[in-house]
Amino acid sequence: MSGLTRGEEIAEGLRAVEERVSEACRTAGRNRSEVALIAVTKTYPASDVRILAGLGVLDVAENRAQEAAGKAEECAGLPLTWHFVGQLQTNKARLVAAHASVIHSVDRPRLVTALSAAAAHEERELRCLVQVALDDHPERGGARTADVPAVAEAIAKAEGLRLGGVMAVAPLGEEPGAAFARLHAIALAVRADHPEATIISAGMSGDLGEAIANGATHLRIGTALLGRRKPFVR
Ligand SMILES: *Cc1c(COP(=O)(O)O)cnc(C)c1O
Repeated sequence: MSGLTRGEEIAEGLRAVEERVSEACRTAGRNRSEVALIAVTKTYPASDVRILAGLGVLDVAENRAQEAAGKAEECAGLPLTWHFVGQLQTNKARLVAAHASVIHSVDRPRLVTALSAAAAHEERELRCLVQVALDDHPERGGARTADVPAVAEAIAKAEGLRLGGVMAVAPLGEEPGAAFARLHAIALAVRADHPEATIISAGMSGDLGEAIANGATHLRIGTALLGRRKPFVR
């Protein structure tokens, strides 16, 4: 063990991530303020979310509805913005709509319908991103590239939802820079039809530099901030 307190450990993770982000922004000729950092807190306890909030990280993300809802409740009172980044079943839309402000993983019209109804029920506005399956194999979530315009249009038209932009995970076995370049082109096409869709959610602990080089506006960082997650059994 490191002998550091958990707070010191997370502060050190944040410092290292900030350094990488600043360096990548310099290399890409971008301003640090163009790139937002979202802490992915899945599998980590609410106490870690409190530590992050104390360090000024107020954007946090989860990928499982039940875990997200529980943690958001435990952290009620903190000025957090919750993001949802996991595959979402329509019957969990309300659970997520009750606390999350940004849903990164909208990939099909039926989910748009469910989220719109959930937003109305909760009397909240949800910012929705179209998740793109950059390898066009949507088994792990994401819309095929060809289906992105239709999902974007459905979000833009839906009551209670606002189209925020696009999100993707770099496919395994492909150079992330090439994948994120495709996402950037898709994002620009979406933005041409929907000027409000300015978000490009891309970049995780292992590929944040490639994401920043390709226009990412929001990074989703777990491991580099909080440490390696224990594998868990569903
Ligand atoms: C877990 C997760 C992340 C964070 O990944 P790290 O490699 O731990 O930084 C980002 N995006 C999504 C969709 C995730 O599920």
